[in-house]
Amino acid sequence: MAASILIVEDEPAIHQLLAYNFEAEGFRARVVETGEEVHAAITQEMPDLVLLDWMLPGLSGIEVCRLIRARTETQKLPIIMLTARGEEAERVRGLATGADDYIVKPFSVPEVVARVRSILRRSKPESVAEELIRGEITLDRGKKRVSRSVREVQLSPTEFRLLEYLMQSPGRVYSRAQLLDRVWNSDAEVDERTVDVHVGRLRKNLSRGKEHDPIRTVRGSGYAFDERFGR
Ligand code: CA
Repeated sequence: MAASILIVEDEPAIHQLLAYNFEAEGFRARVVETGEEVHAAITQEMPDLVLLDWMLPGLSGIEVCRLIRARTETQKLPIIMLTARGEEAERVRGLATGADDYIVKPFSVPEVVARVRSILRRSKPESVAEELIRGEITLDRGKKRVSRSVREVQLSPTEFRLLEYLMQSPGRVYSRAQLLDRVWNSDAEVDERTVDVHVGRLRKNLSRGKEHDPIRTVRGSGYAFDERFGR
């Protein structure tokens, strides 16, 4: 699954535009409208990048930026600030406070997406890489194709997303509930056994019952892509 972006912006027209476009580009986007909600949103799920508006009701963007930098867990979390035109001095202050980049409003959406990609390429390359390659398995995000050595592996869209998500962080164990939340549409009517069924199919398609299985079942916990696969 692609990178997750937390958008902190109080103007609905802007956050809707951003969220819509990031989702269309294959990112996962979450929105909060105030700085006060940022802590809870990050605690619930760590984003890969925060798009942070400068002018917010209550806590300002700059204060939120400082708070994020002050916590050990989020010290290095990439932040892009959105500022109004002509606030040159403020921009400098923003970068000094620890934002990785800033974008001046009004912005063009492709520019925002490009700047986000550029930062993620450094901070989390696998989240924006066109291809994920682990051992003899290659997953091509753009072409939506998976191959194992020279063999093309046929997967359903759900199996593809599941493999993409697991391959992105080899070794990391995800519970069934986490996989349901991240891979399936969260409001879909599915239960945790659905995950087992799809993992079973994914395995069958990847390994045909005779090749080395790259997916680990971790009893009582969930599933992981074996970090030793292909090593
Ligand atoms: Ca604002």
